[in-house]
Amino acid sequence: MAFSFFGGIHPKENKRYACDRQVQDFPEPDILVIPMAQHIGAPCKPLVKKGDVVTMGQKIGDNQGLCVPVHASVSGKVKAVEPRPHTSGTMVMSVVIENDHLDTLCEDIQPRTQEEVEKLTAEELMNIIREAGIVGMGGATFPTHVKLSSGLGKVDTIIVNVSECEPFIVADDRLCQEYPAEMISGLKIVMKILGLNKAHIAMEDNKPAAAKALKAKLDPKEGIVLDILPAKYPQGAEKQLIYAVTGKEVPSGGLPAAVGCAVFNSATCKAIHDAVYLGMPLIRRIVTVSGDICMEPKNLMVPIGVSFNELLEAVGTRENPYKVLSGGPMMGAAQYDLAVPVIKGSNAVTILGIKNKYAVVQSRCIRCGKCIDACPMGLMPVLMYKSTYTSDPEEMKSVHMLDCIECGCCAYTCPASVPLVLAFRAAKQRIRDAAAKK
Ligand code: SF4
Ligand code: SF4
Repeated sequence: MAFSFFGGIHPKENKRYACDRQVQDFPEPDILVIPMAQHIGAPCKPLVKKGDVVTMGQKIGDNQGLCVPVHASVSGKVKAVEPRPHTSGTMVMSVVIENDHLDTLCEDIQPRTQEEVEKLTAEELMNIIREAGIVGMGGATFPTHVKLSSGLGKVDTIIVNVSECEPFIVADDRLCQEYPAEMISGLKIVMKILGLNKAHIAMEDNKPAAAKALKAKLDPKEGIVLDILPAKYPQGAEKQLIYAVTGKEVPSGGLPAAVGCAVFNSATCKAIHDAVYLGMPLIRRIVTVSGDICMEPKNLMVPIGVSFNELLEAVGTRENPYKVLSGGPMMGAAQYDLAVPVIKGSNAVTILGIKNKYAVVQSRCIRCGKCIDACPMGLMPVLMYKSTYTSDPEEMKSVHMLDCIECGCCAYTCPASVPLVLAFRAAKQRIRDAAAKK
């Protein structure tokens, strides 16, 4: 049974630009820049140096603690190990590889038969997932082996997230249409690790072709249920999706495991299949390159490390882009340097034209309360904004600032164009800085 979470909005979907475009292999460029930070947690330390020869899929960075390794997405020669621009807006230590276009595969990459996979224990599977560098590919980039190990014995409901509620983005939609068997196979591995015999695949009702492709591969005896949910933004946010599927509310500050749930992105499931069956680490992903000024929006299978500049060239634009976002227009991050590379969490590059530049005439809050109705977290954005005047971390915390998921629903509905999300992002950072100082 599907539940409707509180609040939310219905922005123009704009998925028509790319939803019918088949995934195409992106031609490998001559130079790839592979950042050492592509996940939440400790960045990797480079394992290679300038002049080294690397093979495709070779581990080139790793670290202890909350970390997953990164791998070379092509074979070639290391041209540099140095800080390079990153989608986070910072400079990040990166390995720059000069592609030899030979695609020499790393000898560690060995496929496994079904029989071999069946013999693997949960521990061994989690280790394979870690060594393959798999993270949440919907954008969260949390290391998947950690999510799995921390869910052992606590999780009774697995949900695969195919909501993809952000406008323009159709990467997961295409993945489910074109790789349904691999996605389901990865999900079965997750079920085996967590010791569960049932799972949900949650999809919004605007993806009929993907739903049909999955249904054709699902066996009712295998315990996997496809839940079709009415489209509403931000259904893809973990807490909202859990409520929509189970009716359970994740408590403030809590993790999904607190209500027995674990959510995995559909691309993450396919990456798990590739790692376990093909022995292939996460070195490629589907990226939707779309926007209102694209000549030919595309869904591309892109090696990690390809620059945004190269993706823009691949789709062509009718005018100079006004804004290029890593992600979608609601939660994506505008990029100031298009030399930034595609990383594991890059599900989309959204290219917007000048017509999206409108003069934002910010006025005073008129106390209309629209932001409160829109907030899917049940927060009071108008009071949260007022608390930011004080700069007092305790006061900002008292209005549940840290529960804000920065979805932008409040700012989207605000008739006074109050820059709510910007203020909340800064306030959350101030609270964290104050906690760190203590
Ligand atoms: S950005 Fe934060 S406050 Fe605004 S609607 Fe989303 S969760 Fe609520
Ligand atoms: S929507 Fe904007 S104007 Fe209305 S109460 Fe919220 S902040 Fe104020």
